[in-house]
Amino acid sequence: MSVIVAIDGPSGSGKSSTSRLVASRLGARHVDTGAMYRAMTWWMLSQAVDVNDAAAVARRCGEPVITVSDDPEGPYVSVNGVDVTADIRGCAVGEAVSRVSAVPEVRSQLVAIQRGIVAEARAEGEGVVMEGRDIGTVVLPDADVKVYLTADASARAERRAREQMGSSEVDGNAIRATEEHLLSRDAVDSTRAVSPLQAAEDALLIDGTLLSLDEVADQILARVADRSP
Ligand code: C5P
Repeated sequence: MSVIVAIDGPSGSGKSSTSRLVASRLGARHVDTGAMYRAMTWWMLSQAVDVNDAAAVARRCGEPVITVSDDPEGPYVSVNGVDVTADIRGCAVGEAVSRVSAVPEVRSQLVAIQRGIVAEARAEGEGVVMEGRDIGTVVLPDADVKVYLTADASARAERRAREQMGSSEVDGNAIRATEEHLLSRDAVDSTRAVSPLQAAEDALLIDGTLLSLDEVADQILARVADRSP
């Protein structure tokens, strides 16, 4: 089905798992735009570019070639042909990414790639589920379905801490540290001048705090079914 779905929300809201599941169920492509901002940040760090220097970031951001897979079952990101899928999830990238993604030149470059992926999918009659912070508001304002997914900060932190530690048992200190980190990243993402994190006016708002992954996906799929001719 060639439907275009935009899923936005803060860190740890479950966007990635939800987007992948929805894309798989629809037989659509999946694009994780956060992975693209992370890949750009990874490259800046690898080149010792000062990420606090917006002019330096703007000057260099045209150099790396960033490629993302659009397969919901096989997330993959590369920079200049180097597989960085695992590296972009590290702490160094997590701490710097909000500063890099606030630079307008970085955004215009990555948004052009994102729109290109959707244009290609449309031309081939394929659907896309794209997740990020500004997809419904800026990247794809004409998306067929827009979703803004959130959850309580503590639930988001617990989920993120589990993912990072790869374990179902995480202690309270780890969750509190993760929550602090998430909240500070959300604050930067929500208050930046260009494309801040916000819900599109016509987005379906879902609070996933007490919902399972399947329940969230079902709500989105129901909205997609409502929009289909
Ligand atoms: O989704 P994820 O947490 O991996 O995103 C990492 C960071 O990338 C966000 O905190 C935000 O700074 C940036 N981002 C963005 N716009 C998007 C997707 C991610 O600014 N569409």
